[in-house]
Amino acid sequence: MSRVNRLDLRKDLELNTYADVLVIGGGPAGTWSAIRAASEGASVILVDKGFCGTSGATAPSGTGVWYVEPREEARQKAMQSRYSLGGFLAEETWMRRVLDRTWENMNAIASWGYPFPLDDQGQPHLRTLQGPEYMRLMRRRVLQAGVTILDHSPATTLLVDQHGVAGASGVNIQKNQNWTIRSSAVVIATGGCAFLSKALGCNVLTGDGLLLAAEAGASMSGMEFSNAYAICPKFASVTKTAFYIWASFYHESGELIEGAGSQRGRSVIARTLLSEPVFARLDKATDEMKVWMRQAQPNFFLPFDRAGIDPFTDRFEVTLRLEGTVRGTGGIRIVNEACATDVPGLYAAGDAATRELICGGFTGGGSHNAAWAMSSGYWSGEAAAKYAKQLGSKRAARIGTPLDQASAQARSEDNLGLSTDDVVNAVQNEVMPYDRNLFRTAERLTDSLGRLDSLWHYIRHEAMPTGTALKRREAQAMTAVSRWMYHTALARKETRGMHRREDFTAPNPNQHHRLITKGLDDIRIETEPVKAPLGGVLL
Ligand SMILES: Cc1cc2nc3c(=O)[nH]c(=O)nc-3n(C[C@H](O)[C@H](O)[C@H](O)COP(=O)(O)OP(=O)(O)OC[C@H]3O[C@@H](n4cnc5c(N)ncnc54)[C@H](O)[C@@H]3O)c2cc1C
Repeated sequence: MSRVNRLDLRKDLELNTYADVLVIGGGPAGTWSAIRAASEGASVILVDKGFCGTSGATAPSGTGVWYVEPREEARQKAMQSRYSLGGFLAEETWMRRVLDRTWENMNAIASWGYPFPLDDQGQPHLRTLQGPEYMRLMRRRVLQAGVTILDHSPATTLLVDQHGVAGASGVNIQKNQNWTIRSSAVVIATGGCAFLSKALGCNVLTGDGLLLAAEAGASMSGMEFSNAYAICPKFASVTKTAFYIWASFYHESGELIEGAGSQRGRSVIARTLLSEPVFARLDKATDEMKVWMRQAQPNFFLPFDRAGIDPFTDRFEVTLRLEGTVRGTGGIRIVNEACATDVPGLYAAGDAATRELICGGFTGGGSHNAAWAMSSGYWSGEAAAKYAKQLGSKRAARIGTPLDQASAQARSEDNLGLSTDDVVNAVQNEVMPYDRNLFRTAERLTDSLGRLDSLWHYIRHEAMPTGTALKRREAQAMTAVSRWMYHTALARKETRGMHRREDFTAPNPNQHHRLITKGLDDIRIETEPVKAPLGGVLL
């Protein structure tokens, strides 16, 4: 067979199809979105970079869920719980509707047969979900809803036409085939960006969806709140931090590190790590707790068991692993209750979207994120289906243009020496060090931005790094996210939520607003007011 024929054949085999709604990402947010869109009568395709059901941050973890009974006293307490930690940027109306939606969704999960443990009164305890069981169930429900799933099929570009977003293209990495899905609406549910730091479940979370959305003209919100670091044994990737409440932290000599702790003392750990190793031991857990901990989170103990370490009695070396926006709160800006973005036909859900609306500038995990993923997933799916319906019969005839084409034409395929690994390393060198990303100053942010801006310009406009299409895209997305983070961090000249400035150590009431980040080459920052602060009080 001639080369031309072979190429033609490959082209014929490539998938080119239409669905009313395309969901990009198959974690909790994407699966809830797909199920809801299908229940509205839409034809739905869900694409995932990995395998929907085992990929992303929830699948290998156990997540606490913001499941609070609908009693005003309980709801008030829940809303207050992280309000000040989040720098008073959350909104009461959003917190209330997420609490309501999460209550409904968790009850639905119970009715679908999820094996919740029983409490003392024999009632199912609905406050936690084990990732593997949860996501297995969600995949089953997605398929039962009639949704087509394309696994191992990352999206690499959105399609647009004069009406807005018109689908996406990507590649099936197992078959090495391109796919194009024309659609009336697209939901971005690609999770956050953890900068390939090897944190649990985060190796697929490189901020791809944020770049896809920004290329279409969407803006970001809360990108300064993107510096979550999780405590992790140095020899493993398990970043479950809840159990470190019962840990003491030590110098190598065995002497206690004063003030170090998992909740309020994480910065003490970071500062110590700048000059010496840090060790931990879960020596505050009682015998009863130890039994419960093993039952509650068996995979927390796997790396210890493998290494022959008893974390209750042995000291082990720890590090702080960057989780970026995964347990930060920045992401694609949400413009209304339907989880729409600034771009017609484009919706965002889960960690890909900003969670400031319910968390302000701090989450740290432990409930709100899971609640946000299932609520925003539900709303975005519903709205995307309605949007598709409203476009009527013309919708399947839309032929969008791939958005990455314009810049690709401007770039040289002749590589000038950079590989995708080089780009990833260069970004990591700027975003991982604690004395750049955790303890921020104008001087250090500007210094990093000098290099990150040049890197962006180079890989976007001069020469593409060598690597597969997916790796190039991931490298680009990480570079874009790092720039949005640091440009926005530079603009917030105060300390609020998880954003700490060593040159502005206190909150400034004049900066009690959100920061909206726009643009790819030239980054612009605007402010947006907090519309519904808790109790109506502006702080
Ligand atoms: C260790 C750990 C513990 C946590 N514990 C809690 C907790 O107790 N409570 C809580 O509320 N939150 C917790 N979180 C956060 C929670 O896991 C996330 O908020 C949640 O997973 C977000 O869901 P998501 O669907 O938005 O993203 P994810 O679950 O990360 O899923 C994103 C999906 O998108 C896919 N994807 C990525 N890029 C592309 C692309 N280009 N094309 C197609 N698909 C793509 C990925 O493969 C993945 O399947 C924890 C996080 C971690 C890391």
